[in-house]
Amino acid sequence: MQGEDQPNAVQRGGFDPHTVFAKILGGELPATFVYRDELVAAFLDIQPITPGHTLVVPLVKAASLAELPPATGARMFTVAQRVGAALRGSGLACEGVNLFLADGVAAGQTVFHLHLHVFPRYADDGFRWKLPERYYQPPPRADIEAAGERIRAALEGQRPG
Ligand code: AMP
Repeated sequence: MQGEDQPNAVQRGGFDPHTVFAKILGGELPATFVYRDELVAAFLDIQPITPGHTLVVPLVKAASLAELPPATGARMFTVAQRVGAALRGSGLACEGVNLFLADGVAAGQTVFHLHLHVFPRYADDGFRWKLPERYYQPPPRADIEAAGERIRAALEGQRPG
């Protein structure tokens, strides 16, 4: 809850003061920054999956994809591309790169200031996706087509932008 004596979101520069990343962006908590521009910043994850694991974070308050301005999302991806290239050229172990973004608790989101993970991959790095059993028994083509029809309808229902 924001009291009247606290700065509003604009005065804070758009940061949500209630997440750890807002505190990092605001300089209240330490982080190892590798990039910053007028829309996004990138700093190293405190619990890296592999050395060099970087988080690309919007400066504006956005807990979810739905709240993220599209231009900021585009910049996040552009910066993630650059960080990926930097990781490959950094001398850190990096034979490949994964991007990962968790939108919502069910997707594994734990910090509610959106962020794009960029982390190096290399042989025997210990990271594996745990896939459900259904993955190994693909559904009938008609089920995939039915899902596609639902998604096309939802896309058509969206406002342009
Ligand atoms: P997610 O589960 O996608 O929300 O990811 C949150 C990420 O934030 C995790 O990889 C954490 O290790 C990372 N994290 C949490 N606190 C900090 C912090 N103070 N500095 C850097 N990374 C952090």
